[in-house]
Amino acid sequence: MSRGDPEFAKSSTLPCVIDGIEVAVRPAPVVASLHEAASRAGFEILARLDDCARLLIRCRRCGGVSVKRRSVVRDHRPECHHCIRARRAHAAAEIGATLLGADPQHRHYGIFRLACGHLVRRQYLRVERAADGGHAAGCGECREARYADVAAQFGWSLTGPAETGRVGYRSYRHECGRTQDVSVGNMSNGDVDCARCGETWTSKPSQIYLFRIDLACGRILKLGYSSNPRRRLRQQLGIARDVPTRILRTVQVSTGHQAVCVEKSAHAEMRRHHPDLIVPKSAYGNAINTRTEIYRADAEAVLCAILDRIERDLAS
Ligand SMILES: [Zn+2]
Ligand SMILES: [Zn+2]
Ligand SMILES: [Zn+2]
Repeated sequence: MSRGDPEFAKSSTLPCVIDGIEVAVRPAPVVASLHEAASRAGFEILARLDDCARLLIRCRRCGGVSVKRRSVVRDHRPECHHCIRARRAHAAAEIGATLLGADPQHRHYGIFRLACGHLVRRQYLRVERAADGGHAAGCGECREARYADVAAQFGWSLTGPAETGRVGYRSYRHECGRTQDVSVGNMSNGDVDCARCGETWTSKPSQIYLFRIDLACGRILKLGYSSNPRRRLRQQLGIARDVPTRILRTVQVSTGHQAVCVEKSAHAEMRRHHPDLIVPKSAYGNAINTRTEIYRADAEAVLCAILDRIERDLAS
């Protein structure tokens, strides 16, 4: 029997490799309704496989060939996995990552190389959402390394996940040897009390700050203290991202305890001598996450004079 023999089409199959898997293709006709169903989904049917339950189809969009069950082509909307992979690879590139391949453990996950070089296993959906939202890919390994760096500045070393498993906490070891769970946020400020040696933030350096904030309701000033004024201004006051802000002044204070005392006396002086310069909560509402310590823009000279005096007193 030769290929030209009409019996060949019915009885013989042709080997064919699709996606690394060898399949046998039967060059026999496919019913018109199947062709129409495939066409509606954006495919063309190339051939039947010899088990008759599967079809060899080609995506009209990308030209990729794949094997699909006949029932899927007939009753469902088949998807082209070449197009899906291209879409995922594109999303990965958008967030600065490279899709290396599928995770053999879970079909919803892929293996990606991040811009920093670390390999991660990540859900495709999350990668595509991040790309849609214009986010960069966060790297857990790099993030933990950053946490360790910050902690080291305050004499703590990051030892791993929180023993209690609490979200936003890690386990840290103090220079004295004591290990305890601390929130990442507090550690980034050095606001942490060691339960063994008693070293606390109140005994650590702090700063008195004067901020200028251009809220929608007008320009205001805020006087306060923090071990990290920049973080306080941009992350802890709940100010909208697009609000212009500026640190006008900071005064170094040797301990957190001293900072509290000095700041309180400054507010007391403003209440006593310049109540007209205090902005009530009702004027700014929730635009800034504080109840007091807010002054009018024209209080700047008075507040700077108070800060000058504080600085002189601390130096003497
Ligand atoms: Zn395709
Ligand atoms: Zn990394
Ligand atoms: Zn300690």
